[in-house]
Amino acid sequence: MKHFHVASVMLALSLTSTMSLAQSTTDYQDQAKLHDIAKAVSPERIEADIRTLVGFGTRHTLSETESDTQGIGAARRWIKNEFEQISQACGGCLEVYFQSKTISGETRIPDATEVVSVIAVQRGSHDPNRYVLMSGDIDSRVSDVMNSTSISPGANDNASGVAGTLEAARVLSKYKFNGSIVYAALAGEEQGLFGGKILAEQAQKDGWRIKAVLNNDMIGNIEGINGVINNTTARIFAEGTRQTETPEEARVRRFTGGEVDSPSRNLARYIDLMADRYIPNLDTMVIYRLDRFGRGGHHRPFNDLGYPGVRIMETNENYNRQHQDIRSENGIDYGDTIEGVNFEYAAKLTALNAVSLAGMAWAPAPPAKVEINGAVKPSTTLNWQALDPKQNPQLKGYKIYWRYTDAPQWQFSRFVGNVNSYTLDNIVIDNYFFGVASVSQDGAESPVVFPGAAGAFGE
Ligand SMILES: [Zn+2]
Repeated sequence: MKHFHVASVMLALSLTSTMSLAQSTTDYQDQAKLHDIAKAVSPERIEADIRTLVGFGTRHTLSETESDTQGIGAARRWIKNEFEQISQACGGCLEVYFQSKTISGETRIPDATEVVSVIAVQRGSHDPNRYVLMSGDIDSRVSDVMNSTSISPGANDNASGVAGTLEAARVLSKYKFNGSIVYAALAGEEQGLFGGKILAEQAQKDGWRIKAVLNNDMIGNIEGINGVINNTTARIFAEGTRQTETPEEARVRRFTGGEVDSPSRNLARYIDLMADRYIPNLDTMVIYRLDRFGRGGHHRPFNDLGYPGVRIMETNENYNRQHQDIRSENGIDYGDTIEGVNFEYAAKLTALNAVSLAGMAWAPAPPAKVEINGAVKPSTTLNWQALDPKQNPQLKGYKIYWRYTDAPQWQFSRFVGNVNSYTLDNIVIDNYFFGVASVSQDGAESPVVFPGAAGAFGE
């Protein structure tokens, strides 16, 4: 959203005389550590990991599990070993485990098959049960989704996502965070989003307070099917009203708003600003959709349970390189081979994930129980629940954001200190959308939370 940004600065300046309260969101505290994190992401290591994953021949969910060199079993054991090595290098800072469930009787998994994901948790220091999560998918496929033996490199779909997740773990494991970060190599995506479903359901059972899921599915292709070649843009898909909304919540939303302010949308806006601030030559498009038209990804099982989650991916997809048997036909090369991956670009999107995860894990938790009122009054008042100081010792205070109702990104903000209620004088509630973020002593901010059930990030 860079172009818009320039516009918002001009807007704030031109309105200064009539709206002295307005402050552009470009007033943020630059985080030197986030620049370091972005720079530390290595395209060479991402390339090496994609090559290793491609080398397993196929990573189809129903493929070989005994071999040490071929098939899904070898692939997941290698990924687990990589996470364990990363953990060793940081004095055991990662909890690494397989998470599995036997699936059967499904269209794409008819016979009993163990679907095994690899999970690594970097435990937070003060709020360990608050999670932000990055994921990619282990499994690959060719034209026939049930073909478990043909060579299926899945270089972009989705070795790129797994390699990015491993690399983010390497970079972020050198730091300590207030909240926990989860790195997940999920299984069974192509057969029906099983790994994500298993993790989301287990997380819910265990009471994980998940604040963000950054699902990476295809982050390495820069040559679109439409002929566009571009390595400077990425997409963030974010659903609209949350899937778990009750009829009563929908009724309230009709009168108070929130159609475009689900927590997934405000997570996407957060990542969009991270791209503007910390990733050179990358501008993201926030797309107001759950996913590509009629298609799926592993953030959905989390959205299904009400967790904020988005899909991060390349802007320019090439369908000749997705879910295809490797072949040449009429002069066109089909197949998801390593030649279709741009490692610098995959590194750029990995860096975007890493700074977003770090920013949120350093920030206090997003404010909970945010409420707003101000109907038929000259001013707008927001209230929210005080964050637990034991969980959030880094809390400095809260920042109120607002924007015109048809603006895509937050435009105005004001830091209001460590209070739990604040009135914006002479700002009329009808004309803007509002939200609240928490801010740490050194300026790390949470995503903006829109008031009410429609925008809640949970307790
Ligand atoms: Zn796929």
